[in-house]
Amino acid sequence: NSMDAGADRIEIEFGDGGRSVRVKDNGVGLSPSDLKISIEPHATSKIHSSEDIYNIETYGFRGEALASIAAVSRLQMVTRMQNQDLGARLESEFGQKSEISSVSAEAGTDVRVDQLFENVPARLKFLKSAASESGQIRNVIKAFALVREDIEYRVLSEGELVGHWPKSDRFLDRVRQVLGIEDMHLCSEPGVEIAFSAPNRTQRINRGIWLFVNKRWIQDRSLTAAVMDAYRNLLMHGEYPFVVVRLTLAPDLVDVNVHPTKSQVKFRDSQEVFRLVRGALRRAIEKTPWLKEAFAHGPSSAPTPTPASAPSLNWQASETLSFSEPQIERFQFQKRDEKVSQMATAEPSGLEPRSARATFMQTGEEFQWSKLFVIGQLDQTYILAQSDAYFYMVDQHAAHERVMYERLLAQFHSGQFDRQNLLIPLALDFNQDEIEKLDFAKDGWAKLGIEFDKLGPNTLAVQSIPAIVSESGVVAALKRGADVGTANSSEESFSDVLNLVLATLACHSVVRAGQTLSHEQSRELLEQMDEFPLSSFCPHGRPVYVRRALSEIEREFGRRL
Ligand code: ADP
Ligand code: MG
Repeated sequence: NSMDAGADRIEIEFGDGGRSVRVKDNGVGLSPSDLKISIEPHATSKIHSSEDIYNIETYGFRGEALASIAAVSRLQMVTRMQNQDLGARLESEFGQKSEISSVSAEAGTDVRVDQLFENVPARLKFLKSAASESGQIRNVIKAFALVREDIEYRVLSEGELVGHWPKSDRFLDRVRQVLGIEDMHLCSEPGVEIAFSAPNRTQRINRGIWLFVNKRWIQDRSLTAAVMDAYRNLLMHGEYPFVVVRLTLAPDLVDVNVHPTKSQVKFRDSQEVFRLVRGALRRAIEKTPWLKEAFAHGPSSAPTPTPASAPSLNWQASETLSFSEPQIERFQFQKRDEKVSQMATAEPSGLEPRSARATFMQTGEEFQWSKLFVIGQLDQTYILAQSDAYFYMVDQHAAHERVMYERLLAQFHSGQFDRQNLLIPLALDFNQDEIEKLDFAKDGWAKLGIEFDKLGPNTLAVQSIPAIVSESGVVAALKRGADVGTANSSEESFSDVLNLVLATLACHSVVRAGQTLSHEQSRELLEQMDEFPLSSFCPHGRPVYVRRALSEIEREFGRRL
């Protein structure tokens, strides 16, 4: 009601397990005569003609809310219209209303409800625990806040301020305030705007996906699926991202079912809406905005300490030690500003020497793995590398797996790749059911470069495999594919298992943890990671790297506050 009344400041206070609620707004207010009838059943100011019913833009319109609340609670309304000097007050006890009295009041409306359901013990019993009721209330308020950043909200629960979200003209600001997550990113295309988290910012329950259509909060399985599909291969099983989707559709494309609490809607073309949401979000995710933003913020979050403020990095002292071994020289401490470029030029690698910060960070260049300086390898598992502002640990297996997965996927779609004909076909045993499934999806496998024939009721002969994968990968992939595939139609059954097959192929064909990598090999791997936009998570959704700001490390060593 406050939103319908044009308020841009709303204060909500609730307590007593949801049995006391107060909503105060600075909206248009009610005249004393309207106040008098506002709690009558079917009293509404929102419908003037029967035509209006087909074009409802307000949240309410049936005139039922106040009447039904008044019947089961103690209700008090104090209101003043902007252009009136005096306000008016109405009190009602379980449906018995008082005369309207004149009072001085702030412009707007203040509604208080207490002892909800006191006169309906049967209904009272159905209230859930205080924690659960107030959780529900918070969710509803969050939803309103997520859709109207042009309204300031203050929320108090049991007298304690639990949310204060000032007005903003930026959707993303509001999302950050309400969800309490800084690392959110924006995607905006005609008809849809989406705020979304990086794939490593997830939770284990499906409560972070908020959907809105024409400023109404809705629940919709298909749209939730569209969101999850956009994160395909980036999340671990059972993980959910934080996403706020706001659709703006022409009224004839969606039946909002107009009851304010009815949260289901009907789209005229739900396929179309599904594609719109998934497509927009997937495109935005593929741009991995979190990498670029983290990178752009790098210099400011980690300003280079001047020698005066951080004299302890004793590069002068090391000079006097005059190391002669080239190996050692390379790791000699340099003055911080020069460190990266000096170290890079010392490498006889043909890599471009770069003058650190200037070309690397501040030109707004895109993040490139190949531009990191490789320090070495940890535990034969992680590549250690650094940029000007961050220390990186890259999981060599996860990274290589991701690269391989993307390469295979690209090859599958383009149909262009080297296949390797096996001199001696690989004979593999399966049960009949598996053979049937595999044989059904034969064309799909062939598109991947894996060609086989039936050699017997329980045996397949693999004739060729893609050049970039290992035989053991092909064996594992066929087993996986046979395991989960369905034998409905060859095309579909294969696209169902494609991701799994590619992930399996990749997993078996790449460098493993525990394998020693030379500097050169590490660098090569980082270069390969630049080939594809989505290199930050392995196909199973594990992160490919973790990193720490150098400034944080400095702080830990007490070099800065
Ligand atoms: P509805 O919202 O469906 O019209 P309600 O029972 O919620 O029905 O409210 C009845 C009427 O009371 C509204 O149509 C509106 O005119 C008035 N009203 C209720 N709350 C407010 C408010 N906060 N500010 C101004 N008018 C209000
Ligand atoms: Mg209403």
